[in-house]
Amino acid sequence: MNRKFYSNLIFDLSRKGRKGYRLPDTGCGASLEGIPANLLRESAPELPEVDEPSVVRHFTNLSTNNFGVDTGFYPLGSCTMKYNPKINEEMAALPNMSALHPLTPAAAAQGALEAYFTLQELLCEIGGMSEFTLNPFAGAHGELTGLMVIRAYHRSRGDMKRDTVIVPDSAHGTNPASAAVAGLKVVEVKSLPDGTVDVEALKPLLNDRVAAMMMTNPNTLGIFETRIPEIAAMVHEAGGLMYYDGANINPLVGVTRPGDMGFDVMHINLHKTFSTPHGGGGPGSGPVGVRKGLEQFLPSPRVVKLDDGTFALDSPETSLGQVSNLLGNFAVELRALAYILSLGKEGLREVGPMATLAANYIKESLRDLYRLPVDRVCKHEFVFDGLADKSTGVTTLNVAKRLLDFGFHAPTIYFPLLFHESLMIEPTETENLDTLNDFIKVMRQIADEAANNPDLVKNAPHDTPVRHPDDTAAALTPRVTVADLKSNDL
Ligand SMILES: *Cc1c(COP(=O)(O)O)cnc(C)c1O
Repeated sequence: MNRKFYSNLIFDLSRKGRKGYRLPDTGCGASLEGIPANLLRESAPELPEVDEPSVVRHFTNLSTNNFGVDTGFYPLGSCTMKYNPKINEEMAALPNMSALHPLTPAAAAQGALEAYFTLQELLCEIGGMSEFTLNPFAGAHGELTGLMVIRAYHRSRGDMKRDTVIVPDSAHGTNPASAAVAGLKVVEVKSLPDGTVDVEALKPLLNDRVAAMMMTNPNTLGIFETRIPEIAAMVHEAGGLMYYDGANINPLVGVTRPGDMGFDVMHINLHKTFSTPHGGGGPGSGPVGVRKGLEQFLPSPRVVKLDDGTFALDSPETSLGQVSNLLGNFAVELRALAYILSLGKEGLREVGPMATLAANYIKESLRDLYRLPVDRVCKHEFVFDGLADKSTGVTTLNVAKRLLDFGFHAPTIYFPLLFHESLMIEPTETENLDTLNDFIKVMRQIADEAANNPDLVKNAPHDTPVRHPDDTAAALTPRVTVADLKSNDL
């Protein structure tokens, strides 16, 4: 597969005097009279002069350089890059939603508030929580918000010394980072060889300094943590709360609920499980749910339903305050609502089992050629520790680059940090059997190439427009100005 790469700069297309618009002559002329000299520029800005078709073609061609879930298979572990149904886009683009001013009075925005409230309620049901806020902008932002709720709870009881969060060694990097930003200390608990939290190692870590324990289930290895009720009982006994990192709740939706396992606070990544486009840093949404008794600490404003059936904004005094621009990323929330409602209860119940089936199918079809360090039934994702045959010198990075030649996005590599050659694959439920089989075939071919023609894999990719960017040089001497780019040595 040889994707054509479009590398023109719009400045290359510029020709003096070319325009994409025509304005009527107002008869007033253009006068700079009255503008102080120090505010006037000395020379005209260097803007491209282009006609409209050139502009349209330029940006359309640029957009085709991107790899996305709409152009190919994207098995990026821990990211749930599932297909995003186009109906969600239509709902988010409805003018009565997208054109709403954020400060529209509640009385004039009842439809939007009802949509927001409905999603809050649906997430409560999905998570087994009492209340949800949709205000946080991302998973990590949700973690921070949730930890702030936990701190507010401890403080409200006058328990000021709880300054520690326990995080498993398999956790997503955002967990310790969020704890640190929330002003809490991080203590790591080890995993057992089977990938689950070591309950014996947890015991000595529990004391009256523990504010919370953060857990991901299925964990970052895609393994279901079976001892959560027991862990929750121990953490609660020590006075701490249980935080659920629900970025990866995809395989559990409609099957089981964090609230039922003993978690007190959780977040969900709408941009992963609830199928709204993400990547490249945004946009996202990380709603936070809490069990009964913690609602009063959630960020403001809250959307509440009044006795007369109307919706209003509420900012209770016990709230930890505002964490975002009022109600968060509303368009992402609308997409998630459209996704949940269009799948319905029955459809949602199929998501997790199908994602689990697809992941296990790939794992079992490749385990003879790739090293499987944790050999268990996985949930929505699993981790290989590189190729089984280490004698060829072909690394996980090489395999990932070689996949690009076949039109697949690379899986997540070198994460989690538990293995040297981590290769983390998450197919999601939205791929058909043909795509899964194509991927398996290519992964088997790459293993074969590694054994018989290792240089072919080590020098990959061969068919991409940009072959071997120098990562170090790009970080040390980035080219960020037009003058840099004009040298056209992409
Ligand atoms: C993606 C992810 C996060 C972080 O979510 P962002 O929206 O990227 O901030 C946290 N935890 C886990 C397990 C994740 O997969």
